[in-house]
Amino acid sequence: MTVDHIRKPDWLKIKLNTNEQYTGLKKMMREKNLHTVCEEAKCPNIHECWAIRKTATFMILGSICTRACRFCAVKTGLPTELDLKEPERVAESVEQMGLKHVVITAVARDDLKDGGASVFAETVRAVRRRNPFCSIEVLPSDMNGEYNNLKLLMDAKPDILNHNIETVRYLTPRVRARATYERSLEFLKRAKQINSTIPTKSSIMLGLGETKGDIIETMNDLRANDVDIMTIGQYLQPTKHHLKVQKYWSPQEFKELKEIALSKGFSHCEAGPLVRSSYHADEQVKAARANG
Ligand code: SF4
Repeated sequence: MTVDHIRKPDWLKIKLNTNEQYTGLKKMMREKNLHTVCEEAKCPNIHECWAIRKTATFMILGSICTRACRFCAVKTGLPTELDLKEPERVAESVEQMGLKHVVITAVARDDLKDGGASVFAETVRAVRRRNPFCSIEVLPSDMNGEYNNLKLLMDAKPDILNHNIETVRYLTPRVRARATYERSLEFLKRAKQINSTIPTKSSIMLGLGETKGDIIETMNDLRANDVDIMTIGQYLQPTKHHLKVQKYWSPQEFKELKEIALSKGFSHCEAGPLVRSSYHADEQVKAARANG
């Protein structure tokens, strides 16, 4: 059987649960000209996250990315937007949604001198001013290895610094654009050096051709760079132009990987077919704080 014929297993066939509340929130996002990964990635967890767990992932600095990773459905191009009022609108939305945990990510803005770090940091501060009890996780790109920009972001004191390594070492050149495996590890290490009290986190997606041994190598590499939290999910091909799925890892295999990750010393590991980088992030803050 060729990879073209791998059928989606039943555990991934879930219906998007939308209701009136969800429609209202979507409307608010459009009125405020905000983007969420939850909507853009058609994340299957949206109902659970928005309505029950009170978590959402905002994507700031526009909706056009300067990179073209082969797994990601975000539009690529030359962005023009630099909206200095966006931080305040994100903060208002967090308040209106009554969020307990917010993830703030951004498209890669290699066109900007500071990679967007100042707007990123201001968003953290604006959210905190309006929502002092909401925990804040930031999910930046590798900022081109400009560690002054990382410092700018860390100085805004997010509750978690998340940077996704995305895949195992040997698949990185095939999967990611411009980013390298080593630079992501370095980025995570530097974050810890800048402020060792802020937990760090990283995620990989499975199904791109990696073996269990490759995944364990990545776990070891993350731990060797002091990463506290790891999430592991299944890659799903967003369109036929993106990388094909080579394998659907089973829920049992994810369970075993979680156990291995915990045995390596991660304070928290979330692993499962529908796990996304921000899935159950509220619990991760609690676990990291308890271990801190
Ligand atoms: S898992 Fe992440 S992207 Fe998906 S709905 Fe929850 S917060 Fe949004």
